[in-house]
Amino acid sequence: MVPTGVNSTTGIAGLTLGGGFGRTKRKFVMTIDNLISAEVVTADGSVVTASADSHPDLFWAIRGGGGNFGVVTSFEFRLHALGPEVLSGLILHPVKDAPGLLAGLTEITDVAPDELTVWSALRKAPPLPFLTEEWPGREVLVSAACCAGPVAEGETAVAGLRALGNQIVDVISPHPFVGWQAAFDALLTPGARNYRKSHDFAALSPDAVRDLLQGINSLPDPACEVFMAHVGGAMARVGSGDTAHPARSAHYIMNVHTRRDDADKDDRCITWARDLYARMKPYSTGSAYVNFMPEDEEDHIAGAYGKNSKRLSEVKGKYDPDNLFRINHNILPA
Ligand SMILES: Cc1cc2nc3c(=O)[nH]c(=O)nc-3n(C[C@H](O)[C@H](O)[C@H](O)COP(=O)(O)OP(=O)(O)OC[C@H]3O[C@@H](n4cnc5c(N)ncnc54)[C@H](O)[C@@H]3O)c2cc1C
Repeated sequence: MVPTGVNSTTGIAGLTLGGGFGRTKRKFVMTIDNLISAEVVTADGSVVTASADSHPDLFWAIRGGGGNFGVVTSFEFRLHALGPEVLSGLILHPVKDAPGLLAGLTEITDVAPDELTVWSALRKAPPLPFLTEEWPGREVLVSAACCAGPVAEGETAVAGLRALGNQIVDVISPHPFVGWQAAFDALLTPGARNYRKSHDFAALSPDAVRDLLQGINSLPDPACEVFMAHVGGAMARVGSGDTAHPARSAHYIMNVHTRRDDADKDDRCITWARDLYARMKPYSTGSAYVNFMPEDEEDHIAGAYGKNSKRLSEVKGKYDPDNLFRINHNILPA
């Protein structure tokens, strides 16, 4: 496998060029960290190979710098052996128990092996087939666990998670990894209107959890959610200057995710996301992942790239001096 996004349908090109953030990131890191080479059509029409040995400056820049440097016509990725079965699945709890559960979860994630990733989603329960009829539509804390290693080792790794609180249901068991990768596709079908806001956190304090839960009390639509991704692990051992994407040290990434089918709901959903994002800002590290930034955060681009900004502008100036590729989170040529 090559590590890609949270679900199986996210476009591979934009995902990779921004970074590529998925459920095995603590073990196999981001999609860009598994890129061996790419064929790129640059602004002057040249077709070049970007790799460690060929145009290494371009290779560095396209690993996080998005579509700023040319049109990528092929990618070559490094593969990892995994599965076919991995221990994976969900545990659901009522949201009223979330303060204690999230505190317990942070203790587990602080010492988790790289193989274990636990993401928390706070949302209204969808009509999942394993839920009894009173739960769909009610606010729940979903813990989504995946152990990217042997199933027996996974059982040891999830034991603490299984022991937390009074569960509604525990459906963690061995599943084919390809099934787990597609498990949430039904919640992310094409055609919906999406708006996301995201923060990185070094830790989740009780005050941060309290402010987060206020937002969950006012979810504007059943498809809206906040997920708190557990990162760190191998991800935190990559240097912030090794690729253009510098944000490697966060322990949690929050994604405030709004989805709706109807444009009439835009204002309500977007306002909710912006309010929650503002409330959580004091707890964040200030770093960001460009693929989780909406278009209205253009003024945050330089901040998202941090100390890599200057080098990115220089590479942009070399390969796209007239800023032909600008319909994106734009990096200005030096
Ligand atoms: C429902 C949903 C779920 C998501 N889940 C994840 C996730 O789990 N992990 C994650 O990391 N991100 C996720 N994202 C964000 C995702 O990575 C970006 O939206 C990404 O841009 C999608 O890639 P795409 O190929 O579909 O890009 P498109 O939407 O087609 O294009 C977006 C931009 O990417 C650039 N681009 C695309 N293709 C090329 C190319 N061939 N050459 C050069 N530039 C190109 C261009 O700048 C373009 O404007 C999700 C987004 C949505 C809407």
